[in-house]
Amino acid sequence: SLGQNVIVIVPGANLLLNFEDLKRASDVICKARVVVCQLEITPAVSLEALKMARASGVKTLFNPAPALADLDPQFYTYSDIFCCNETEAEILTGIPVGNLEDAEKVGRMLLERGCKLVIVTLGAEGCMMISGDEPIPKHVPAGKVRAVDTTGAGDSFVGALAFYLAYYPKLSMEEMIRKSNCVASVSVQAPGTQSSYPYRKDLPQDLF
Ligand code: ADP
Repeated sequence: SLGQNVIVIVPGANLLLNFEDLKRASDVICKARVVVCQLEITPAVSLEALKMARASGVKTLFNPAPALADLDPQFYTYSDIFCCNETEAEILTGIPVGNLEDAEKVGRMLLERGCKLVIVTLGAEGCMMISGDEPIPKHVPAGKVRAVDTTGAGDSFVGALAFYLAYYPKLSMEEMIRKSNCVASVSVQAPGTQSSYPYRKDLPQDLF
């Protein structure tokens, strides 16, 4: 129905990315401010990229999408930030996430598995964050918008978060998440997956 995701995954070249490619990219990975991984390339290769980043003190942001029930537990220990949506959270923990309380429960479970900070995105409700340093979960709401197409909202959120981590590292995590919600909520207001930010003068301009 209108406004709901229908997703077809065509892995194509993604699954050809291998350890050799990683080795060739190691200079870039190890000098980055943040490395983002998810599961559209071979999980073992993604995990190795996270390990390379961690070994160089590079911040790691992991998005377990598309979700795998038998995710290698090392993904938790090598993720500084583990960011999943409700569906992914349920596949990983067995707990259906229908509200903030469920998200908090899932967040605590994922923290126990070894990540430093967990974000569960909650669609129109924004997201929930919880960290080892700040074990009291926080709800960061998204602005009210008219959603037309939510495809790619999660990617938009993760991409925005990586941008703030890299370029505005002094912002608090809550502020980064608030801004990332805002970017992602722009992406749902037009068909397709692009936020069309530079072209929309009617949108908030204080995100950069
Ligand atoms: P996914 O696209 O992976 O299913 P979500 O649906 O949780 O992820 O959306 C990711 C983020 O996109 C949310 O945390 C929020 O910031 C934004 N978002 C998604 N849907 C809406 C909506 N209807 N209104 C406002 N923001 C939204």
